[in-house]
Amino acid sequence: MKQILQMHDVNYAYHNMDGETKALQDITFSIDEGEFVAIVGPSGCGKSTLLSMIAGLIKPEGGTIELSGSPLEESKKNIGYMLQKDQLFEWRTIYHNVILGLEIQHMLTAKTKARANELLDIYGLDKFKKAKPSELSGGMRQRAALIRTLVLEPDILLLDEPFSALDYQTRLTVGDDIGQIIKNEKKTALLVTHDLSEAISLADRVIVLTKRPATIRQTISVKFDLEEDTAMHRRNAPEFKHYFNQIWKELTQDGDDVKVSEPVS
Ligand code: ADP
Repeated sequence: MKQILQMHDVNYAYHNMDGETKALQDITFSIDEGEFVAIVGPSGCGKSTLLSMIAGLIKPEGGTIELSGSPLEESKKNIGYMLQKDQLFEWRTIYHNVILGLEIQHMLTAKTKARANELLDIYGLDKFKKAKPSELSGGMRQRAALIRTLVLEPDILLLDEPFSALDYQTRLTVGDDIGQIIKNEKKTALLVTHDLSEAISLADRVIVLTKRPATIRQTISVKFDLEEDTAMHRRNAPEFKHYFNQIWKELTQDGDDVKVSEPVS
């Protein structure tokens, strides 16, 4: 299996007037092509720092990061980023929002436009191509934001708490929806979340971080014996509770003050 991401002994600390804030320590893991990996950890432990580093926004102080076998700085950095806010521009239609990345990267061709239209059609936004973002629900907006990222054919998608701005019920359906699209498109994804249920319902593997400076406490493979392996079916499966309690136990091992929902009994 081809490895898309490889992090080896990565360290990082923020330096400012008040001194040093160690954020990440000895982070080593890899992600295979097509894998969906979730990272969970206490609030403020260094999860966003980790993603910023993979996106090339900040450089590790120690260790190496490779994308598809090349050092990050030499690679094409073909990375998709999805954030809490969908960053859709109100003055552009949904179609024009979706092709924005293609425009910026000078990749707008008949072929890429056709792909944008195809994705909008497949994922139910065909009737909203000419609509403005404010005319769409929160879930549809996140879909449009995902399609904007997918048309750039990224090697890996980085998802930084992409559903946490939504209310609980919407978060469930949008999480399921976005997870399914990523699986259908066979994309490699790395999701950072403080929501254990979200991690278990979407990921093939969950990496549990300690409190800051984050180190890897445990990596848990998540496998469900389901005919139709969707997020909703996972949440209703008997294994779900087992994984939830296992990860919860790992997270709270040091009496860490974790901000996640309570374990299920
Ligand atoms: P998480 O995403 O897990 O909540 P972050 O990666 O955002 O955590 O932050 C990890 C730690 O680094 C936190 O303690 C945070 O306060 C600190 N931090 C984040 N950004 C900066 C910065 N620009 N300067 C100094 N400290 C920072």
